[in-house]
Amino acid sequence: MQATLNLPIADTRKSRLRTWGPLALVIVLAVLPLLPLPNFWIIQLNYIGIYTLPVLGLVLLTGVGGLTSFGQAAFVGIGAYTTAYLSVNYGLSPWLTLFIGLALTGISAAIIGGITLRMSGHYLPLATIAWALSLYYLMGNLEALGKYDGILGVKGLQLFGLDVGQQRGFYAVTWAFALVAAFAVIRLLDSRSGRAIRALAGGSQMAEAMGVNTLRHKVGIFVLAAMLASVSGWLFAHFQRTVNPSPFGIKMGIEYLFMTVLGGAAHVWGALAGAGVVKLLEDQLQVLLPKLIGTSGSYELIVFGIMIVLVLKYLPDGLWDFVDRRLPRRQRVVDWQDAADLPVRTKPAQGEVVLDVQSIRKTFGGLVAVNDISFQTRAGQVVGLIGPNGAGKSTTFNLVTGVLSLSGGDVRFRGEAIGGLSSRAIAERGVSRTFQHVKMVPDMTVLENVALGAHLRGGKGAIAAMLHTDRAEERQLLREAERQLQRVGMGDYLHELAGNLAMGQQRLLEIARALCADPALLLLDEPAAGLRHKEKQALADVLRTLRNEGMSILLVEHDMDLVMDICDHIVVMEFGTHLMEGTPAEVQESPKVRAAYLGTEH
Ligand code: ADP
Ligand code: MG
Repeated sequence: MQATLNLPIADTRKSRLRTWGPLALVIVLAVLPLLPLPNFWIIQLNYIGIYTLPVLGLVLLTGVGGLTSFGQAAFVGIGAYTTAYLSVNYGLSPWLTLFIGLALTGISAAIIGGITLRMSGHYLPLATIAWALSLYYLMGNLEALGKYDGILGVKGLQLFGLDVGQQRGFYAVTWAFALVAAFAVIRLLDSRSGRAIRALAGGSQMAEAMGVNTLRHKVGIFVLAAMLASVSGWLFAHFQRTVNPSPFGIKMGIEYLFMTVLGGAAHVWGALAGAGVVKLLEDQLQVLLPKLIGTSGSYELIVFGIMIVLVLKYLPDGLWDFVDRRLPRRQRVVDWQDAADLPVRTKPAQGEVVLDVQSIRKTFGGLVAVNDISFQTRAGQVVGLIGPNGAGKSTTFNLVTGVLSLSGGDVRFRGEAIGGLSSRAIAERGVSRTFQHVKMVPDMTVLENVALGAHLRGGKGAIAAMLHTDRAEERQLLREAERQLQRVGMGDYLHELAGNLAMGQQRLLEIARALCADPALLLLDEPAAGLRHKEKQALADVLRTLRNEGMSILLVEHDMDLVMDICDHIVVMEFGTHLMEGTPAEVQESPKVRAAYLGTEH
């Protein structure tokens, strides 16, 4: 495995390209309008800038967050109609209507997102289609908005008395917005909130267990994506000098998604690539195809349809991903060595009952997966939960951590009843866990994955991240993540992508992530599965150290040597029921336990 790891800074020349690439792009974009290019090309670039904004929103929402929206064009429409209506009818300054449009878009996105994002799976795409269709017909049927003819006579933009309403002036405004937005999204993704957002696509279970409010983050990126679309609409209205419903319909919503997928859904620069390629191709094809075929028609749509299929098949991660994979990842500058310690919670005293499980029960239909299980764990104690496969150990974990709701019984943590609390609320109280089936974000580095565990120990949000006022806290979080990785012996893999790790290393990553939460109770679900002998010994050492520091540990494990070696107390389950409990020696001697494991009569 070690040999296949693509360790960073393999080629500093290429890695410099990553550092200087974005700067070069900014310089190229700044120089372009100074060249004697025909106005046609400046106008093309203006449209590409206008399209880049909503696509950037979809990169965040769909590419990174895993949420699909067909309604992006409708939010572009709100921005466009708001400024057209208010500036034409009431003479308001476009610089004021920009913010009114943003507010209207933000509020509608928050309402739609708040309702649909609670539901799972396909509700959001369906809801965004319904929303896009109804808004389209609303724009087309309202007398005040000029029905399908729209609103004419929208004025061009003025800035400090300068005309920036067309060509090069407009170019400067559009690309200033597009680049500021792109860099803001990049900063957002590289932050506490960003890690939470990047964890969303893998399902909410792990993120919630780390204390992330997944609904809030989903609604957040939905609103942010909509606001980027709104700015685009504002630009569009003042560039076209007229608005009508057709560019804001469902067809355009699909086209924005296509730009996102083609460009490289999970890459910020993919938004620019996607918007650019689609706009330029569309124009060329619109001219070329009717000539080739001999009759006029929207043939470019057919070509696009075929292209979507080909891209999905051969470049499922888009054009930019193709480029990106050929660049080495940039070595993160380690600037957190002198960061202050994060605050720690007050821990229970040695020997105090930390977890008190009282007759818990869980039924799945007719199956009683956990039947009347009771046990306690104390501070400074490792309790083993063992039993054959299907005995109900993982279900017990899920009941204790609030992933599953109790069918009966109660769970008390440090004296407080936590049965019925959400897994986030339980995490807040100091319960941290790993998963039997490792849950991590494969395209985040090991360090970033582990920092996700410290989510609740930070407080800076998306806006702080975009403004970079979160850097001091960010250094604290990363330092803590590095410290916990060192502790489990993973200090050499900080900058490796988590997806490249071997199974044993992934499990150690999960333990470091759980430790990052500064827990009082640690639940480990088969941590030694996939570990080599030496790694198991290292794990045993880590667990012993933690216990001596006063941590309470609940351990599910099949490796009996490890269990017998480090557990102070063992609870044995079979078919959901409590078979026996006692010291390792007592359990080893029990004929009942032997029978359960060997499947003989008892
Ligand atoms: P263990 O971790 O001890 O191997 P589990 O807790 O995973 O066992 O499973 C206990 C029993 O509950 C098994 O029979 C399993 O099939 C069943 N089970 C677990 N989760 C679910 C679920 N979400 N829906 C239905 N049955 C489940
Ligand atoms: Mg299990």
